[in-house]
Amino acid sequence: MYPMVYLDYAATAPILPEVLEKMHHAENTFFANASALHTPGHLALNEIENTRTLLAELINADPSEIIFTSGASESNNTVIRTFEGHEIETSPLEHHSIIESAKIYRGKKLPKLYSYMLANNEIGEILDLSKIAKKAHREGAFIHSDLTQVLGKLPIDVKKLDLDYATFSAHKIGGPIGVGALYVKKDAPFKPLIIGGNQENKRRGSTYNTVGIIGFGEALKYIKKHQTWKKYDQDVRKLRDELANRILKEIKGSSLNTDIKPGKSLPNILNVSFEAAEGESIELYLDAEGIIVSTGSACASGDIRPSHVIMAKTNDAEVAHSSIRFSFSLDTTKQDIDKVMEVLPGIIDRLQKISTIKMRSK
Ligand code: PMP
Repeated sequence: MYPMVYLDYAATAPILPEVLEKMHHAENTFFANASALHTPGHLALNEIENTRTLLAELINADPSEIIFTSGASESNNTVIRTFEGHEIETSPLEHHSIIESAKIYRGKKLPKLYSYMLANNEIGEILDLSKIAKKAHREGAFIHSDLTQVLGKLPIDVKKLDLDYATFSAHKIGGPIGVGALYVKKDAPFKPLIIGGNQENKRRGSTYNTVGIIGFGEALKYIKKHQTWKKYDQDVRKLRDELANRILKEIKGSSLNTDIKPGKSLPNILNVSFEAAEGESIELYLDAEGIIVSTGSACASGDIRPSHVIMAKTNDAEVAHSSIRFSFSLDTTKQDIDKVMEVLPGIIDRLQKISTIKMRSK
């Protein structure tokens, strides 16, 4: 790996060393098909059940309420499709795996599904989910929340949040890409998305991804052991706020798309716009300096439309086109912030000078 300041953890976090080691071991040890009757099969299934129990404990659920999937997109698609033909209401800030599948499957039948993320992946905004959950249940509706960005960053209690469904992904917490989970409250409606196998208690066909699920488990152990949400709140928040304040002070035409007041956003995400500077250009110039950030969400990059999240918040295409996201982890240091501030003001100044867009602030 070449030296870099990696500030794109919300897109994907590098795999934790202990996760990698555990997965290497598992490749050789727990290789058997976990649905098989024989002993190696049982041993593999036992490991899967350990991860299930760990996740259930971390979010205050019962292990029987956890289904492993291939990631958050599949978990989201599964919940939305369960409500095919029903009313589905989502927030405009949702990930595309919610918005696009809701477009396909929504109808007019009741009960209705509400799908609102607790915290957004692009700007980190935290929503008041309890209000929506109350409303949903008062109406006899169901509520799902995409908690992909929340796991490890805030404590999670699905009972206190009063959720019927919740989505998780391993690769945002130092686990492998391609593994996720879906919490489905006991007795909540459920329709399998992948059919043709009895795995996951008949709720998801396909051979168990044993090694991936074991890796997910190891990343969950890390979260539990270090109570990472406390460190994010104490340490990472300070660094995030320092970067935000230095950008506002030192860079002309900068504005925050993330509300950094306590309780308003995840402590590890900072989204900023720079007048008359294009997000993609900033990303590439920073990349050339070994600083890795993203524009909008990585999933949408290659898409030239402005971020739907920033558009929903500002209705200003210029602000959306000029935004970049810094996202931090427990490994982020003060030196990383200093390195960003060594080069970012010069990059923005250069881009603003060559831009054909007029600066609104002078
Ligand atoms: N939901 C949110 C909020 C996300 O941030 C992401 C990843 N960008 C996803 C869903 C999709 O996750 P996965 O890659 O596990 O499908």
